[in-house]
Amino acid sequence: MPVDLPGLLSPRPHLLLTPGPTPLHPRAQEALGRELLGHMDPEVFALNREIQQDLRAMYGAAPGTFTALLAGTGSLGMEAGFANLVEPGDEVLVCVNGAFGARMAEMAARYGARVRQVAAPHGEAIRPEDVAAQLGGVSLVALVHGETSTGVLNPLGQIAKLVRESGALLTVDAVTTAGMEPFHMAEWGIDYVYTGAQKCLSAPPGVAPVAISDRALARQAARRTPTPLWYCDFSGLRDYWERQAYHHTVPVHLHYALHAALRAALEEGLPARRARVAALGRALLSALAPLGFTPYVPDPAARLPTVLALRLPPGLDDAATRQALRAREISITGGLGPTAGLIWRLGLMGEAARPAPYRRLLHELEDLLAAPGLCGRFDEALAPLPA
Ligand SMILES: *Cc1c(COP(=O)(O)O)cnc(C)c1O
Repeated sequence: MPVDLPGLLSPRPHLLLTPGPTPLHPRAQEALGRELLGHMDPEVFALNREIQQDLRAMYGAAPGTFTALLAGTGSLGMEAGFANLVEPGDEVLVCVNGAFGARMAEMAARYGARVRQVAAPHGEAIRPEDVAAQLGGVSLVALVHGETSTGVLNPLGQIAKLVRESGALLTVDAVTTAGMEPFHMAEWGIDYVYTGAQKCLSAPPGVAPVAISDRALARQAARRTPTPLWYCDFSGLRDYWERQAYHHTVPVHLHYALHAALRAALEEGLPARRARVAALGRALLSALAPLGFTPYVPDPAARLPTVLALRLPPGLDDAATRQALRAREISITGGLGPTAGLIWRLGLMGEAARPAPYRRLLHELEDLLAAPGLCGRFDEALAPLPA
């Protein structure tokens, strides 16, 4: 049987309401149809310079901070940080309260770090005092800002302040936050930050936007041994992005699409995007609560606005319901590991975080769960928000 992939102009486009990838921004979709230019073309270098400038704005980076796209997904962004900033035997402190924190710990160990972990139970945020207690002798701290696997927002500002005072470098996973709300790399004192194109920016997967502080560049330049990951060696990246010398062939179409989507995000404005996500999250919660859906994260201050983690009502058949939605061209995501079968995770990133796609989900759920009134409650709660 031939594989049945969605067409570009199908009457009922497939709807991605997962915590990544998110639906492509129309301008990113359009950019993918442009003519291919070479990775050393002057127009591509000009585009790259605009991307670098826009990334500084997105991350709240100091003027002149080195920014770039890595040719891979968010995990490559994660890996590149450890590859460049860890040397064998270094003490690295990793905050782990979900799957992505655990991935960071695994990567740091593979690059030879002696990994210490600060943990928090699933559904709870990392406590700054627990970080403070472990900072002695540590050269690098790693934190996931928004833990996608549980829908938890970690207190980055407070933790960053402690790390700064200790003198350690700080690497931050901003995959579910940067681009959807103001981010303050310079003010918080972050040394390395990354995201993935397909999350908050609604660009295609395949590039990881990063920003690297001068302190981090200096740490990498002073390594005793070369960065073991040649492909993402900071100095190799600077050869291409700053000195316009060949390093590797960049995925030019993904640069076009990322550029378009990032411009659109900055034109809308990060505070406006944050407000859009917050309003949508509230409306979804008030529409679904009468059916028995409850927030998985007990502390409202620790809820990640871009990944709404909902505990399922007793009796709801997780797999069957999601399969039925998939048959109606809607993808949503269940739990991961210990939360499998227990929760749904609704992605409120980028173009997913709009009323129309969620109205379509609720419309189908009204039918599948025999729950009249769902869309009405949603619209009522959303009333002040424009489509
Ligand atoms: C999705 C995600 C990643 C990994 O990104 P990939 O693009 O799947 O490699 C890393 N961290 C967080 C918090 C994520 O949500």
